[in-house]
Amino acid sequence: MTLTLPDVAAADPARDDRASHLVGLVGTGIGPSLTPALHEREGDAQGMRYLYRRLDLDVLGIGAAEVGRVLDAARLTGFSGLNVTHPAKQTVLAHLDRIDPDAAVLGAVNTVVFGPDGAVGHNTDRSGFARSFRRGLPGVPVDRVLLLGAGGAGAAVAHALTDVGVRELLVADADRARAEALAAAVREAGRATTAVVGTGDVEDTLRRVDGLVHATPTGMAAHPGIPVAPDALHPGLWVADVVYRPLATALVTAARARGARVLDGGGMAVFQAVDAFRHFTGVEPDAGRMLAHFAELVAAGA
Ligand code: NAD
Repeated sequence: MTLTLPDVAAADPARDDRASHLVGLVGTGIGPSLTPALHEREGDAQGMRYLYRRLDLDVLGIGAAEVGRVLDAARLTGFSGLNVTHPAKQTVLAHLDRIDPDAAVLGAVNTVVFGPDGAVGHNTDRSGFARSFRRGLPGVPVDRVLLLGAGGAGAAVAHALTDVGVRELLVADADRARAEALAAAVREAGRATTAVVGTGDVEDTLRRVDGLVHATPTGMAAHPGIPVAPDALHPGLWVADVVYRPLATALVTAARARGARVLDGGGMAVFQAVDAFRHFTGVEPDAGRMLAHFAELVAAGA
């Protein structure tokens, strides 16, 4: 006699067939990040069960060099993936099975997906900036661009600028060695010529470039100020800031007042989340909805 077991799941009125995802953000100082809220709201809107956890390395007592421990734990406990931020965007590379070439070339990963290929790293700061740029500054000239700031965000942005067609990239940073290293990396990637500009020559340089991208912390609530003399800004220039807390930095405000076309840092913040959501779930998020949610969060002072 054959025993047929009842299909308990099908009979269970509480059964839930929605896709489920558990993801997280690994780094330090991540309490104020808007990324978890952006992901969770989009997951809800997509009809998923979507949980986004903060995994603060300081709270966990884990150093950036040991971020592999967090990756192992997340993978074992069924996370779909992780976003990675300061100070682990570089140290995480050693713990990945595969790295997207766009992330490998800039030596930093902010999104890790756990799947059949193991832990795969991506950089959605790069793709996010490129998408924000195309959307926010369509049709601007990109022959020659000055990038101020060659740190983590600057590196992602530098390569993103080559993705949007910049032919000559000038790089300035208070730490000249960093500017040199980034300029060399972009040149070696082979899609733009590069040069290094001293920070004392930034204002002069603004007369002969199409656009300025700002990627130092100046203008953040914790680092108030303006990174270039306002008088050097002019209507023949476009200006993109990556700082997004606040959105209206002193640079953004001064550039608008002087007639420059301006892109604030909000688009990059949203599109890095849009691209990460797609990597984690395989589902295309509604970017317009995530932009609107971001605007709501900012307006509410989140
Ligand atoms: P970082 O510390 O890695 O790099 C900052 C760089 O700026 C350093 O190389 C430093 O030498 C240089 N610098 C600082 N002050 C300078 C000055 N006055 N003149 C010239 N160079 C100067 O920091 P990061 O991670 O690259 O972050 C930079 C900013 O980008 C932060 O405000 C961060 O919030 C923002 N950010 C925004 C997004 C986004 O999605 N919009 C993403 C990442 C970072």
